Amino acid sequence: MSAAAKTTNDSAPTSTARRVAWHIPASQVAQRTLNPIRQIVDHMKIAPNKDKEMISLSIGDPTIYGNFDIDEFANEAMIKVIKSKRSNGYPPSFGYQHARASIAAKYTIPTAPLTANDVIIGSGASDALNICITGLCDSGTNILLPRPGFPLYETLATSKGIEVRYYNLLVSNRSLFIVCVPEKNWEVDLGHLESLVDDKTSCILVNNPSNPCGSVYTRPHLEQILALCARHHLPVISDEIYDGLPFAGNVFHPIASLTDEVPVLAVGGIAKQYCVPGWRVGWILIHDRNDVLKEVCDVTIAFRSISRFRLRDVQARQGLISLSQLILGANSLVQGALPEILHNTPQKFYDDTLAQLEARIQLTDGKLGDLMPLRSCFISTILSIST
Ligand SMILES: *Cc1c(COP(=O)(O)O)cnc(C)c1O
Repeated sequence: MSAAAKTTNDSAPTSTARRVAWHIPASQVAQRTLNPIRQIVDHMKIAPNKDKEMISLSIGDPTIYGNFDIDEFANEAMIKVIKSKRSNGYPPSFGYQHARASIAAKYTIPTAPLTANDVIIGSGASDALNICITGLCDSGTNILLPRPGFPLYETLATSKGIEVRYYNLLVSNRSLFIVCVPEKNWEVDLGHLESLVDDKTSCILVNNPSNPCGSVYTRPHLEQILALCARHHLPVISDEIYDGLPFAGNVFHPIASLTDEVPVLAVGGIAKQYCVPGWRVGWILIHDRNDVLKEVCDVTIAFRSISRFRLRDVQARQGLISLSQLILGANSLVQGALPEILHNTPQKFYDDTLAQLEARIQLTDGKLGDLMPLRSCFISTILSIST
């Protein structure tokens, strides 16, 4: 026995379990974690054609070519926050009170009321989704995801040992594959969705407006989805990050506004609408009118408990707040500027961004037609450089 081994206590594993050489495998979580988009774009090495300028079709970042510009007002708001030196410390892991209050004020509506205590801020919508999925699903259970859908959902779930089951979005009979069918609008195949539910199903994730489909669901369709969730007592994670970007003629309905029964964790963020994906602020809006998710996300009780140092209560009701403590949330400076950005950005910025996106989409519809049904932010961004 080596000297080092003798110093360990008796309950430690026997020496046969100890390493005898430098073989350090990646952990199982790391091995299970694969983000298909990052896997491709982070490792892409393509010899460019010397005679042509390369057009990258790989990632939906509106800032890359500078054509979708951030509003000057948001820049000024950030500068003010930096100069004030008041947002340099650790915010609470779930976000500054004034930032959460500003999100609640922007998104509260009579049919889906919100206060600051119903909001958790995360590092981008990605972190918010991670907290929701981890908060609702255990390893060994399953989560129902849209197909086609945003690949991050699967990455987050499988890395935690959560089984992914894809429900179909409706496309045309004209082709087995991707053909645009405006009349179906990429609605959920409800029969297929219901056939996937079993006793291990934790929740259903809905993405509306959809990336990559560009669909905005009608109120009756959202009500059908909610009826299914109610029948099976399944909470909804609703990724609504494109809520501010429906094109003319489409009306966006927050799914939480259409139910008194089904608990909804709605996810949003500033990345897409304000053209600042690198600023990394997103949020969870907790809609849980019947306290069904109390143990998962009782923000009010956790706050009260923390302020009175009743740590046992916090432990019993940790849920989403505990998960937010893993990385202590979003950047403090952007949180500091959030009330200004959400409430005082000039209307012209919203109008111009939407008009610019719509012009790109008309271009894709006209030039690429049926071949390009996936009307995502990604395509809009890409094509913007050619116009
Ligand atoms: C971009 C995107 C996200 C992630 O947003 P971040 O705030 O950048 O993390 C989540 N969901 C969908 C559908 C997206 O397109």
